[in-house]
Amino acid sequence: MREFNPWYMALKHLDEVAEKINLDPNIHNILKKPKRILTVSIPIRMDDGRIEVFTGFRVQHNITRGPAKGGIRYHPQVTLDEIKALAMLMTWKCAVVGIPYGGAKGGIICDPKRLSSGEIERLTRRYISEIISIIGPEKDIPAPDINTNPQIMAWIMDTYSMDKGYSVPGVVTGKPISIGGSLGRNTATARGVMFALMNTIKKLNLNFSQQKIAIQGFGNVGGNLARILQKENCKIIAVSDIKGGIYNPKGLDCFKVSEALEKTGSVTGFNNGEQITNKELLSLNCDILVPAAIENQITKENADKVRAKIIIEAANAPITPEADKILNEKGIFIVPDILANAGGVTVSYFEWVQGLQSYFWTEREVNLKLRDIMEKAFENVWRISQERKVDMRMAAYILAVSRVAEATRIRGLYP
Ligand code: NAD
Repeated sequence: MREFNPWYMALKHLDEVAEKINLDPNIHNILKKPKRILTVSIPIRMDDGRIEVFTGFRVQHNITRGPAKGGIRYHPQVTLDEIKALAMLMTWKCAVVGIPYGGAKGGIICDPKRLSSGEIERLTRRYISEIISIIGPEKDIPAPDINTNPQIMAWIMDTYSMDKGYSVPGVVTGKPISIGGSLGRNTATARGVMFALMNTIKKLNLNFSQQKIAIQGFGNVGGNLARILQKENCKIIAVSDIKGGIYNPKGLDCFKVSEALEKTGSVTGFNNGEQITNKELLSLNCDILVPAAIENQITKENADKVRAKIIIEAANAPITPEADKILNEKGIFIVPDILANAGGVTVSYFEWVQGLQSYFWTEREVNLKLRDIMEKAFENVWRISQERKVDMRMAAYILAVSRVAEATRIRGLYP
């Protein structure tokens, strides 16, 4: 279905902004196409002696403003269209927050739940050796995404370094601290979402502690966000994970929810709240809704039922373009993914900078620098939305696409 094709959605957003800013059709044509697509087959010796052949991708959408940057996901439903769309989204995200990167994404079609740790290590190392000629600290810097983690980033760094003959920490971000990871990286996306949320509340003249917040997804982003917001005295009334959600209008203790998740494998194991479905969470009577799980959660089928006044897109592409239109008509204020969840790539950028300089910052420094970048980006997007009378998504795209277009224009065409 086209509504759920991520590449179609990404092109649709680009076309809309191109029209709005009268983008030079030549530059529009350049930006519509990924710069480079590499598809590789990855043969792996499985634990039982068989050889299984996996398919992997690395897509670099644009490298005009700097090296390509983007995560690698391991998932059975990975498609080339999805990776292309996410690579384009990374180009815009890096441009919105003004960090000197282009956009990339990678993925392997696999079900990591079916693979042993040894198989995942061999898969990772062989995938990296297959794409090694197009990655590197000056070319393209991978990072974690769905089902990839600091250990996998360590194997990536090691494989690349073995090939070069010396340690190259700048080839990947999201690494463990012991080999050049950055303090604050683990909570960076959630912290960035919190800054986006705080700025929204300030701009809309609302009271921070009075907001009732619902969060879909309780992983790295949603779980950290819930705990950080609770420390700031916010009221989280509902959270969920893939198995379902829990709701308490008086507010949940998200630290206890985390303990329940650890013990039972799901937030639904927390017993001081009413059990709800993910569908119900999205239409709860709350002030702020934070989708922090996966794509395509708010569609034209359920957009009309959303009762929140503000949506902060912590996940990538949680709202389809058709649903976006419905939500805007209802007057819901939406902070788009390319702004709201840019904290992760921003601290990845800090990690890369620290690695290149072999000089590491304190967590406080990281968090303060992150706040500066997120606040400046929010302010820029807000100003554009006010000046041009457009919603925040269009404003963020105007800022991002204009920056990439200007860089493309000024560099000119080679040869
Ligand atoms: P994660 O795997 O740590 O957590 C995902 C959470 O969503 C889990 O609680 C999971 O149970 C839940 N979930 C999965 N499928 C679901 C479904 N169908 N319905 C409801 N809940 C479901 O992932 P994460 O790193 O927290 O990423 C969440 C989102 O944020 C993704 O869209 C990701 O692309 C985006 N994002 C993450 C980062 C980062 O630094 N981790 C950065 C930018 C964007």
